[in-house]
Amino acid sequence: MKFGGTSVSNIERIRHVADLVEEECLAGNEVVVVVSAMAGDTDRLIRLAHEVSPEPPEREIDMLLSSGERITSALLAMALTTKGRMSRSFSGRQVGIHTDSTHTKARIEHIESGRLLGALSAGVVPVVAGFQGISPSEDVTTLGRGGSDTTAVALAVALSADRCDIYTDVTGVFTADPNMVPRARKLDRISYEEMLEMAALGAKVLHSRSVEFAMRYRMPLRVLSTFSKDPGTLVTEEDKKMEQMVVSGVTLDRNQAQIVVCDVPDRPGLAATLFRELSDNAVIVDMIVQNVGQDHLTDISFTVPRSEARKTIRIAQEVAKRIGAGEVRSREDISKISIVGVGMRSHSGVAARMFETLASEGINILMISTSEIKISCLIDEKYGELAARVVHQSFGLDRAESGDPVRG
Ligand code: ADP
Ligand code: ASP
Ligand code: MG
Repeated sequence: MKFGGTSVSNIERIRHVADLVEEECLAGNEVVVVVSAMAGDTDRLIRLAHEVSPEPPEREIDMLLSSGERITSALLAMALTTKGRMSRSFSGRQVGIHTDSTHTKARIEHIESGRLLGALSAGVVPVVAGFQGISPSEDVTTLGRGGSDTTAVALAVALSADRCDIYTDVTGVFTADPNMVPRARKLDRISYEEMLEMAALGAKVLHSRSVEFAMRYRMPLRVLSTFSKDPGTLVTEEDKKMEQMVVSGVTLDRNQAQIVVCDVPDRPGLAATLFRELSDNAVIVDMIVQNVGQDHLTDISFTVPRSEARKTIRIAQEVAKRIGAGEVRSREDISKISIVGVGMRSHSGVAARMFETLASEGINILMISTSEIKISCLIDEKYGELAARVVHQSFGLDRAESGDPVRG
């Protein structure tokens, strides 16, 4: 059972979470709990870091941020103990979560599950601080924003759990963020593939690495609300019914920055030089477009997470100088709107409909990228929510009835 930030945002809620854990134990289940930091705490810690330093060392960021999850794990273990249920809190390190050494977005490499198995066999409910691990040099690492989901799924896999339940502040996975598109519908089931695309494209309800783990090890994943009895959404294998829907979800990613390297000499190997340098610096590049060259010069545009824009511009400027390219421009007032659905494999005209829908609202498309089951368009940030709503409607995803689906 994993509980997100809103679910543990105050003492009353932590007690409520303890009640939910107790219910599962009384139902005869062995439970491992993973918790996030209290809602807002991670942001607050990041702000503090930036008050002290303009570019805080990433090792220290991880040391700082991992404390948020440790606080809630200890408080929940206390709440459970007070109810008469044996419980102990553990940091990522204590439960053997080994990661690589990429601070602030480390990847879990292996888990030594001995300590957790020992606790379980002693009848203790372990409460694990999510979002963190330990690097080969024994430094604390964190798994990237939203990474507690990944802790939960990775532990479920390591312990061969029957399932992994992600408790959050909405009743499941919706056809779009229900806090942005009021007519979004909750999905009863969604395939791993679609969920992975949606998570990677900005649906923050699940951390995308968590879905990758679940998909690879076929771990059944449930997304449900801490505050309602709704059965939630099951993330599982694709089935016939899912294929009949052309589009299952719409996402909006506001965390994008566009970088343009102008006047790149049109010679083999120069794009390779640029993207090799970015990759060596652990910058994750998303969309890439190279304009048709004129006078043997081309513009290369690409997108990166907004938090990496400064670093990327610095690297791109160095490379541009080295390869004789022109200036490096950037834009942060952009968003990426995407549609996802396994049904796209067998339906034509999906892209055309998306582009027409955006055009009908006068929304200009800056970049496009596609995969077998998704289409993404980069647009002006100010049209983001409008685009999400009209595209949602145009693919028939709107819910007919009124009411509050989110709180069940
Ligand atoms: P937690 O703190 O529990 O991990 P998050 O804030 O990380 O919660 O994720 C839950 C939020 O994800 C919801 O409040 C909702 O606004 C957002 N969200 C974005 N896309 C979707 C979607 N397709 N379905 C459900 N929620 C979504
Ligand atoms: N507390 C971390 C964050 O806010 C991790 C998480 O909540 O999953 O990103
Ligand atoms: Mg989350």
